[in-house]
Amino acid sequence: MHKKDFTRLLKLGILKDKDICTEIDCDLCDDSHHTTPFQNDADFMIVCGSSSRKVLPDELKIWTVNQDALLGLIRKNLGISGKVVDETQGDKKLWNIGTKSTKHSTIAFYYLRQDSPLEFERLRNEVHDVHNNHNVIFTNTNIEAQPNVQNEQFVNLTSLIDTGTSLFSTKKLDVILVKRHRVQFDTRSGNLTLDGKLLHAFGKSNERKYFIEKLWKDFEQPVTNTDLYKFVRGKMGNGVADTPQKYCNKLKNAISKAYSNISNILIQPQANQYMLKDPDR
Ligand SMILES: [Zn+2]
Repeated sequence: MHKKDFTRLLKLGILKDKDICTEIDCDLCDDSHHTTPFQNDADFMIVCGSSSRKVLPDELKIWTVNQDALLGLIRKNLGISGKVVDETQGDKKLWNIGTKSTKHSTIAFYYLRQDSPLEFERLRNEVHDVHNNHNVIFTNTNIEAQPNVQNEQFVNLTSLIDTGTSLFSTKKLDVILVKRHRVQFDTRSGNLTLDGKLLHAFGKSNERKYFIEKLWKDFEQPVTNTDLYKFVRGKMGNGVADTPQKYCNKLKNAISKAYSNISNILIQPQANQYMLKDPDR
């Protein structure tokens, strides 16, 4: 880390020293090894071969992130308000850090402190509200999301850092939020939502659900009847007598019947295609 950045994080109270380490990396020789500093009068020293040097007190400190200060700064910089709740009951892994209203909706924000890229998969079963694709989850490292998780739900904090601001940039966050789809489809639950509100629950496994799932996978791109037909049939594992066109029209009609406002977001760009999209702005 750059020395200036380090000083800045210290000043912001985000880094704090937790402990004194017993070993540091030797920089007196070309071998990479650890060495134990020893006290010599008021100073600490390291020795390797015939070389030696003084060790600065800061070199011996083990630094840790002050979570409360970090969460406070994120909220202040990004204009997020509400209560901070540790969703992992003192485990300090996932916090609900409040909400922020945008043009179309109010978004709930979380902070995920993960030690391994797969941490979220373990936590998502424990923390129920986090399932909503509409939420935004800030992370300290990149997430390895499973195929049924929307990657756009996760924002690595480093992508929000702007050295011209206090630290995190609300402008950078806004750019990310505008790019997010207002329509979301949860492939696990089969719930189709707009701005976080449920439009229709399609269920977990049926032809209509897979029809929407395929269109969601290719969001805002036209999908041909043939491709839809292949996908749905592949998922259902059964044969259908109808032609692709007839089959897709039948599914579309069944969906429109269950949810009449879908014509806003489910369109036919051409006679042999369907497309799922955000509503016109
Ligand atoms: Zn050495």
